[in-house]
Amino acid sequence: MSGLTQGYQIHVDGIVQGVGFRPFVFNLAIALNLTGWVRNTSSGVDIIIIGSASNLDSFIKQLRANPPTLSRIDKISVSPGNFDTYTDFAIIESLPVEGDFIPISPDMSICPDCQRELFDPNNRRFRYPFINCTNCGPRFSIIKDIPYDRPLTTMADFLMCPDCEREYRDPADRRYHAQPTACAVCGPQVEFISPGDEPLQGEAAIQSARTALKNGKILALKGLGGYHLACDAGNLESLNTLRQRKLRSDKPFALMAFDVPTIRKFVEVSVDEELLLISPQHPIVLLKKLSRVNSLDHTAPSQQFLGFMLPYTPLHSLLLEPESDYPEVLVMTSGNLSEEPISYVDSEAAERLSGIADCFLNHDRPIHMRVDDSVVRVVQKSPYPIRRARGYTPEPIRVEKNLSQIFACGAELKNTFALSRDQYIFLSHHIGDMENLETLESFRSGVDHYKNLFRVDPQAVAIDLHPDYLSTRFGENEACEKSLPLFRVQHHHAHLAACLADNKLFSDEPVIGLIFDGTGYGIDGHIWGGEILTGNFDHFERRYHLQEAPLPGGDSAIRNPSKIALAFLHAAGIEWAQNLPPVSHHSPIELNVLKHQLEKDLNCIPTSSMGRLFDAVSSLMGIRQHVTYEGQAAIEIENMVAPDENSSYEIEITDDIINSLGFIPQILNDLNNGIDKTIIAAKLHNSIASICLDVCSRIRSYLGLGRVALSGGVWQNTTLLKKTSNLLRKEGFQVLIHRQVPTNDGGIALGQLMIADAILKN
Ligand code: ZN
Ligand code: ZN
Ligand code: FE
Repeated sequence: MSGLTQGYQIHVDGIVQGVGFRPFVFNLAIALNLTGWVRNTSSGVDIIIIGSASNLDSFIKQLRANPPTLSRIDKISVSPGNFDTYTDFAIIESLPVEGDFIPISPDMSICPDCQRELFDPNNRRFRYPFINCTNCGPRFSIIKDIPYDRPLTTMADFLMCPDCEREYRDPADRRYHAQPTACAVCGPQVEFISPGDEPLQGEAAIQSARTALKNGKILALKGLGGYHLACDAGNLESLNTLRQRKLRSDKPFALMAFDVPTIRKFVEVSVDEELLLISPQHPIVLLKKLSRVNSLDHTAPSQQFLGFMLPYTPLHSLLLEPESDYPEVLVMTSGNLSEEPISYVDSEAAERLSGIADCFLNHDRPIHMRVDDSVVRVVQKSPYPIRRARGYTPEPIRVEKNLSQIFACGAELKNTFALSRDQYIFLSHHIGDMENLETLESFRSGVDHYKNLFRVDPQAVAIDLHPDYLSTRFGENEACEKSLPLFRVQHHHAHLAACLADNKLFSDEPVIGLIFDGTGYGIDGHIWGGEILTGNFDHFERRYHLQEAPLPGGDSAIRNPSKIALAFLHAAGIEWAQNLPPVSHHSPIELNVLKHQLEKDLNCIPTSSMGRLFDAVSSLMGIRQHVTYEGQAAIEIENMVAPDENSSYEIEITDDIINSLGFIPQILNDLNNGIDKTIIAAKLHNSIASICLDVCSRIRSYLGLGRVALSGGVWQNTTLLKKTSNLLRKEGFQVLIHRQVPTNDGGIALGQLMIADAILKN
């Protein structure tokens, strides 16, 4: 008799490390009386199991059906064979292989089990602000290198106490190999700092922070992926102080409440929205205000939506714990000055935030990679990402083909970058607006970290066509230094490709793209943004576009809808009558300068941007002459739309041009006739939706295309999104919208990467 027995060798690919996968396998094997072993490798998990045929089968079934909550199985390979006999089932040492990698879990919000222990007076971690387990807690933000083991995280300096050590070593314990595990005896501690007072630790620190918030103070709070600035969301004085100090005049603040019933006091929460709020990611969810006047109105001026999230770390839970006379809702906004990246290093935060915050709640667990909060909304019952960061990154997007190793630099606003290898695309967390050196530095360190973590050595670089973006220059340097091929990708083609990849469409069949945004460099050097394209990954054609209007001073005009409106009036041949809001907004001297500039065509760049059309209309309607954040004018028009209005404006299409300047006289006419602004806003939206149907029908009639991709920042306007997709679906079109990556420029890098890969392979 030989010592070999019939069994299976199994390899599992996906997010299977640091998520309780090996204990799950261990317990399953023991329950089914199987022998053998399980181990982590650099590319996943290997398993050998030996036992009766029926038990082996149930093992595989269970493995597929009930893996741990935070794991994501991409592939299970099973090969039968004869193996050595084992006397038991064991978890054995990891086997690293040079160059291999495995996806890393994102940071995950506190799980229900840990939440229960946090508030259980009999638990040894009662009120310990860093409680976590295999199912929850920090991951990506504390990992310095792979394999994911404690010495390679920012927990390396915390030596486990005997109790924590015992849990960590026990495969039956829910903290088995939970790398960040800790307790009050051995783990990180909080500290409350208020100028002039002795620093406080532990429960005293938390209570002092709560008292400060209750008294209207602004607290800088070190969280999971960086610092937040917190204050009582119902305290107008605190809000105003925070806006002044942070140099942020109107932009909405994110809010945090202890639980869903509290959130329901202020906004509508559907079943799908609740599922998203309580999902392991705990993103900020944009929720519609209840119609009555809202005590939180000042956190988000002239918005219909408030961004709410639940406490996602134990520290947040302790800070939000309900108590009578304590704020129910706290503002939780990124700890930065307007436009700069979020602070995450203690010394730097102390310096940068001391002018904004009255006091600090710090802790001594270092953050290795800064990660902002994610922002998501629910559209047609499913998540629709606005900002992809904490909880979602660095989870890769898996595609159905092998990709070259490529580095895509993204665009300028809401920048993210992307790296690829094998069947994976690592789209970075939200980096921010690449308009200053701090953000560029954050981009650079992010790129280095991702390259190292996922062992990517790019063989090509993809950038935006815009010559002046910091991301473009970065990519040019990178390609030049390493002699790599460089792909300049047209911005709206990248949006189209991102939407295809997001929807897992990898065939060569072209689709129609309705690509609407504020700004993107066109192949003719003009500023595009109201584009109807056809194409796939390796090519595109511009079929229709909005009529061009001059943008005086180029992109610098975008803060001033009044100037855009004046330019649109000029282009439409309409007199600048003194009673028009954009005209009365400017002095006669300013008007003369602008008129001269437009007449002589001095530094006026033609634009077909949909975003600028909304700006111009907003100004003409007297809603907004100056914006303080991107998309503000459009959001305010969207908020006005009369829900049941079905009429629209007549807009002609001649050849490849949608005569969008035709909106201007018709809207002025309505304004003169005293038509309600809510009706005008509705008519604008209805007209754009019907233009979309018109151009798609034309294209279908001569090219036979029936799939339509909606991408670009304008589609954050969900009123327009719903109207357009309903019309298209009714006429038999298949409508693709974003589901994994943002429709705004946060998704651009994904598209750039897919286009570069397609061209490389041709
Ligand atoms: Zn937990
Ligand atoms: Zn301990
Ligand atoms: Fe864009």
